[in-house]
Amino acid sequence: MRLLLVEDDPTLRAQLRLGLEDAGYAVDEADNGRDAQFQGDTEPYDAVVLDLGLPLVDGLTVLKRWRDAGRATPVLILTARDNWSDKVSGIDAGADDYLTKPFHMEELLARLRGLIRRAAGQASPVLRCGELALDTRSGRVTLAGQTVALTSHEYKVLDYLMHRPGTVVSRAELTEHIYAQDFDRDSNTIEVFVGRLRKKLPPGLIETVRGQGYRLAAA
Ligand code: CA
Repeated sequence: MRLLLVEDDPTLRAQLRLGLEDAGYAVDEADNGRDAQFQGDTEPYDAVVLDLGLPLVDGLTVLKRWRDAGRATPVLILTARDNWSDKVSGIDAGADDYLTKPFHMEELLARLRGLIRRAAGQASPVLRCGELALDTRSGRVTLAGQTVALTSHEYKVLDYLMHRPGTVVSRAELTEHIYAQDFDRDSNTIEVFVGRLRKKLPPGLIETVRGQGYRLAAA
């Protein structure tokens, strides 16, 4: 999953980026509202962490513009302590959730997991497909109760597919959601990851849809 992190405080931004990358997210950054808006307009993020107090264009305006343009990307806003009116304005402008500074990384991660799974129409933190289960909290994948050992890239591919069972996902889409913007992307590597995943999973679970992409067989 790929996130846009918008925060103008360089120390906080660096901390958040580390925590998010440790949790397996591909992270793009913006340190002002103008760049944030452009990136959100042009890149397919799975969620956005949006500070409200930003240079050039404030976070609330950025959020309103995205929503006016019909962008449905989940947005979690960061608000200053005790500023309850920011939370109200933010939610009314289309934010899906908020956190008040300072906050614990664990809470941000839990809220993001919730936003991403709900945006994909998944209510449970454990995604299932037949006997395959992926626990989005622990990152543990099991097959009939037995742990399946995956590399981080294999996990990212499976995580994206398991959020969308029965849906065709192209290699380009997988590439865009697994790598950050500054990464040297090659959609051929997706084929390699899928090939390795297939060897570890029941046959036929990840279907190839000719000329279109991959689909996780709906159990
Ligand atoms: Ca700020």
